[in-house]
Amino acid sequence: MTPITFRRRLLSWFDKHGRHELPWQKNRTAYRVWVSEVMLQQTQVTTVIPYYRKFIKRFANIKQLAEANIDEVLHLWTGLGYYARARNLHKSALLICRDHGGRFPKSFEAVIALPGIGRSTAGAVLALANDARYPILDGNVKRVLTRLHAIDRWPGEKQTEQELWALTELYLPQKRLADFTQAIMDLGATVCTRSNPQCDDCPMRSDCVAFQNGNPTDYPVAKKRKVLPEKHVTMLMLEREKKEVLLIRRPPVGIWGGLWGFPESEQTDPSLLPAWSKKTLGLQIKTQQQWPVVRHTFSHFHLHIHPVTAALVGESNAVMELADTVWYKLDHPDRRGLAAPVKRLLQQLRNET
Ligand code: SF4
Repeated sequence: MTPITFRRRLLSWFDKHGRHELPWQKNRTAYRVWVSEVMLQQTQVTTVIPYYRKFIKRFANIKQLAEANIDEVLHLWTGLGYYARARNLHKSALLICRDHGGRFPKSFEAVIALPGIGRSTAGAVLALANDARYPILDGNVKRVLTRLHAIDRWPGEKQTEQELWALTELYLPQKRLADFTQAIMDLGATVCTRSNPQCDDCPMRSDCVAFQNGNPTDYPVAKKRKVLPEKHVTMLMLEREKKEVLLIRRPPVGIWGGLWGFPESEQTDPSLLPAWSKKTLGLQIKTQQQWPVVRHTFSHFHLHIHPVTAALVGESNAVMELADTVWYKLDHPDRRGLAAPVKRLLQQLRNET
């Protein structure tokens, strides 16, 4: 199929069947497109929409985002996962205010220099917001292209990735860049879907090699799977009077970086927790109940969370001398970023007490 045919088919399909009512397509600005693109990294549109609406309602522009407290940004991100995205958005907003007068930059070099923005996201924002001529290569585009050309190598491999970039550049039109960019994402998201491609509705069908071979779902080829390591951690749900639970802010980098969580111990035997707490938190505690283990999978390991409830013995203020600790009020929760399993455990605690 020639690039001209590809563009013509894709754009006329988009005019009839593409998505034209997404919240970030209304009052389109580079800021709104940027936020949506960052949220859409690794996340589906239907999941993103409610988060996007809340985020934009609270932070209507770059300046408001830059002036916000990171805790509030993370709070609005709670549940969406991959929290580095939220921290990078906030960091980028500060940089844009410092270096670009609060206006989202127009040059590709300036956009890609912002934290958390790779080549595909930079291209998508500039194409969607300014109709600029840059290709994209997100998961949807990789899927369409690997099927169309029956590329039977893992797309994450360097050479294959370069080949895919060359193809996405080849198909790029001279005009209607915003529509073309949205169209190719839409085709991947709504027709050429991962497990159930609707080839009968696809404008590329007559030239798609995977369709001709009857094996679209064999593409993109998966990376050989590694067995993920298993880790165990105890989360200590320590309560004091008035339904207050101790939370600690996590370090800024690493899993759930900057979010708030329960004190964590590698000690999974509850009988050893009082001694651990005395030593680490300076608090005398009495453990109460062990809750069922919660399993949480990250890209590089499985985490088994052992939740244990506990109460303070006597009164001690030692923990308040530690930086970044708070007694979180279960009945009047304030706004702070919480890791998803912590949020669920707090909800269960609230229901129990
Ligand atoms: Fe995807 Fe099927 Fe279209 Fe090929 S014909 S691009 S496999 S939806």
